[in-house]
Amino acid sequence: MTGWTRRHCTCVEVRNLTYDEAAAALRVKRRWLEDNIRCLPHMKFGGQPAVFCHCDLRLIQAMRTVLPPEAQRVLDAPTTDDQHALTEMPTIRSLASIKPAQGRRRATAVT
Ligand SMILES: [Zn+2]
Repeated sequence: MTGWTRRHCTCVEVRNLTYDEAAAALRVKRRWLEDNIRCLPHMKFGGQPAVFCHCDLRLIQAMRTVLPPEAQRVLDAPTTDDQHALTEMPTIRSLASIKPAQGRRRATAVT
């Protein structure tokens, strides 16, 4: 392993995570990390178990991110239109635009 392979790492302070800590942070089973370790960024010191820094975890997140085509289209929109594209999405409304339903009445008391 050379420094070249750590280009994705921006850690200023060394704070490596164990399998259990990395699994907890990613909300995955430790077993999944162990089973897939050959394909996942990690550090290995001799015969000791692999360790991960948060940059390794971010890279794992990126490797496992599922982006539906619609999300990809929003991300691919020109930068100047990003805000416009987001506000155009019908499901996203500002809190100020949400008004209480009209004509709401107290439930009629049962006599
Ligand atoms: Zn790092």
